[in-house]
Amino acid sequence: MLTLSVPAPADLGTEVLGVLEGSTLELQVRLEAVVEGVLASGVVQARLVGECVRCLEPIEQDVSVEFQELYAYPDSDVEDDEASRLEGDLLDLESTVRDAVILSLPFQPLCRVDCPGLCVRCGVRLADEPEHRHEAEIDPRWSALARFVAEEGSTEVDAPDELSPDENSTDDRDEGAGSSGDRT
Ligand SMILES: [Zn+2]
Ligand SMILES: [Zn+2]
Repeated sequence: MLTLSVPAPADLGTEVLGVLEGSTLELQVRLEAVVEGVLASGVVQARLVGECVRCLEPIEQDVSVEFQELYAYPDSDVEDDEASRLEGDLLDLESTVRDAVILSLPFQPLCRVDCPGLCVRCGVRLADEPEHRHEAEIDPRWSALARFVAEEGSTEVDAPDELSPDENSTDDRDEGAGSSGDRT
């Protein structure tokens, strides 16, 4: 097992989460000679930085991602989409590590799985203020109107009783349609 510390390449991540360029990647790599070439497998440890897509809180987390890639001899029969190629005696571990790290990233990183996000009215981070509410904020100059709206609402509630005969006649029509269907 080979242990390497290498600086992270640029653009190792997505727009919302990734490894800072130049920060340390710790690699543990095992190289095995196989018939077709060299099988490289191992683990990369990196520090991810980014922000929560719901509340924009900064995120920092250490990840450890496994990878495995076959590096085939240049003259091997292995298809190109199944393996990388050895270039002379060198293998390009960077693209393998890059693919493994990027594939492991969540599409929508969150500061915590149940992050409640931000208040849509004022932008407060709801995780910081679980009791955050806006309901008691009617301007006193509007309170008369609010009461008026409430009274209007109550007259509308009475209305369906006056309409109930119509509802019955609708039922009659439905039955009529049913029986005419039987006749044909
Ligand atoms: Zn969050
Ligand atoms: Zn708010």
